Formats: sequence, C-alpha cells, structure tokens
Amino acid sequence: MQYRKFGNTGVEISQLGFGCMRLPEYQTEEGQWQVDQDKTNEMLMKAYELGVNYFDSAFYYCHSNSEIAIGKALKPIRDKVYISTKCPMELVKSPEDYEKTLDKSLEKLGTDYIDFYHFWSINQKVFDEKIVPMKLMERALKLKEQGKIRHISFSFHDSPEALKHIIDHGYAMETVLLQYNLLDRANEEMIKYASEKGLGVVVMGPVGGGRLAVPTELSQKLGSGNLNTYELALRFVLGNPGVSCALSGMQNTDMVIKNAAVASLETPMTEEKWREVGQSMENLKKFSELYCTGCGYCQPCPKGINIPRIFEAYTYHNVYGLHELAKNTFNGYVNNEKNPGATSEMCINCGYCERKCPQKLKIRELLKKAESAIRAL
Ligand code: SF4
Ligand code: SF4
Repeated sequence: MQYRKFGNTGVEISQLGFGCMRLPEYQTEEGQWQVDQDKTNEMLMKAYELGVNYFDSAFYYCHSNSEIAIGKALKPIRDKVYISTKCPMELVKSPEDYEKTLDKSLEKLGTDYIDFYHFWSINQKVFDEKIVPMKLMERALKLKEQGKIRHISFSFHDSPEALKHIIDHGYAMETVLLQYNLLDRANEEMIKYASEKGLGVVVMGPVGGGRLAVPTELSQKLGSGNLNTYELALRFVLGNPGVSCALSGMQNTDMVIKNAAVASLETPMTEEKWREVGQSMENLKKFSELYCTGCGYCQPCPKGINIPRIFEAYTYHNVYGLHELAKNTFNGYVNNEKNPGATSEMCINCGYCERKCPQKLKIRELLKKAESAIRAL
C-alpha cells in the first residue's frame, strides 16, 4: 500500500480508503436489516492487513448500522486506523444538536474519538444558512480541543463555485470528500485548489458509482487497452496529484484485494499519463458529432424534454462505448415512475433549444438519432 500526505492534517493516509456504505446485509424474519458482522470483520481486517488505514462511514449507512458494524470490526486495531463518519445536517436544528449527533455516532462506533468528522453532504446553502450562523465550526473546534474529534471535514455535493466558497470561508475545515471520476471531472480544478490550500482530498465514486466497473471498450478508446476500464478509472483518480485517497465501497474480499493491488503501485498513473487520459476523454467528446457540454442553456423545453440528459446517454454509447450505461440512463429517464421523461416524439419544433445552444447543435435531428440508437441497443 502506498500512503499520501493528507493535506495539512499530519496524517499519512492510504491511497485506498474503505467506503463502508455497502457492507453485506441481510434481513431478519421480522424484516429488520442487519449487517453481516462476520463478513464485515473479514473484509475490514483484510483491508487493514493490505495497508488500508482509512475507513469511511456515515450515520445512516447500511440502515444506520454501518457505524456499529465497523466499530466492532475495527475495535482490535482502533489506534492503528482512521475512522471517518458524517453528521446528517438535517438532524442539526440547533447548535447543541451537532454535539448530540456526534455523541450518538461515538456510541454506535464504540469509540471515544472520531478521526475525521464530516459535515455531511453540504452545499453552499447549508454552509451559509446553517454552519456559519449556528457557529458549528467554532463548536467543532471546541470538540476537537476536547479530543472527541481529531479533524474537521466536510463532504460535498454542489457546484465547483460553491466548493470554492466553502474552501475560502470554511476556516476550520481540514479535509473534503467529493465526487470525481473519469466521467465526472467537474471538481478537477477545485481538487487542485483545495490541495493547494492545504486540505486533504478524498474522492468518492472513483469508478463512477460502478458505472465504469462493467467491461467496456473505453480503455481501448483512450489508448490504455492493456487495462480494463475499472482499473483505468481507479488509476486515473489516483493519478491526480491533488487527490489523497480514493474511497471504494468494497463489498467482498476479492474487491479489497483487487483495489489494494492498484493502490500498492508506487505510481498508479503518472501525472503526464493522467493529463493525457483527461485530454483523450475531452477529445473523444469534442470530435464526436454531438459535443453537448451539458450547459443546460437549451432548457427549459416547453414540452419538458430533458435534452442534456438524452445527449448524456447517447454520449455514453456513442463516444465512450459504455452501452449498458447508455441504456440504463435513458431507460431511467423515460421510465421514471413519478415523472416519465419526455422524448423527441413530444417535440413541437419551436426551435427554442437550437437558438440557445452555444454549440450550435441540430438538437431536433440529434434527439431522434440519439433515441433510436439507444433503443436499438
Ligand atoms: S424544438 Fe422541440 S426539443 Fe427544442 S425546445 Fe422546442 S419542443 Fe423542445
Ligand atoms: S444548450 Fe447545447 S450544449 Fe448546452 S446542454 Fe443543451 S444541447 Fe447541450
């Protein structure tokens, strides 16, 4: 296992982290969900033996049982590993609730300190309207002084601009957990910014939430044919010099061994190759007939056609060779139970979308082409 400097925390973190959101579970006869403790012990210990030292949970993972299960599994090695967990911000209705929630997590984990305590899944609104006015960073710093928290962190789902805002104003924040992978590089610039500001950066979804875990020809398209797409995707994330650790939600020991092998390479991907792969991804998209940037200027369509979503599905198929993902994305859109997505059959030819598209795409024609290509898969 290779270790990286985790921002300015003084911690050396394994470049592979264990995401404990998909631990093996089963349902009791009464219908209650339980984590399979034996399998969890086995997987987590295997990961530890292979050098993983960062285990990431959250209050609600695995029907709220993940913290309990990892607390038990890691008890014999508690002082040798770093436990990360997260505070659900909706539970924090007053400043005191923050500490109450922390205490519940400590109890569930069976530990008296949490190494990395996250403000969970925040966006700019939660930061500006809750964390700042409730003085939760000041509170977290006090709890740090008391030793209940070792480091203050946040996980993030919002725009890169919002991330910059939180980095610039979140003076107590030491590490950030964010989304980044070959298919979603929106945070790439901010990873650099965060690491230059001294924050440790952990990536969730390095293989696109499993989207890059299926066999595809993407690797060949990017000129990395000797690697399967899964491995290429993991190496790509670790090739980013601003990333400290890639979290993987491993579900069995084989996955642990496979990921640990990649994370044990001294250089999973050189910075030069990382730039090359990133550029190749861009080129694949750019030189395709349909270069939709997902900007959304064509929206709203009066008939409710989600043009960027349909083009995204087509790009998976046509550009990246991710055919299954293309089908699932498109079917998920059109067959959505609550809100079935509109398609080109609904188009009234108003032309609004094409007048707005900065890429000058012939949207109406391309919509038909995209839909019939995906339907034929
Ligand atoms: S031309 Fe069709 S797809 Fe475009 S905005 Fe009008 S109705 Fe929607
Ligand atoms: S305006 Fe053009 S580039 Fe932007 S999302 Fe719509 S189709 Fe894609």
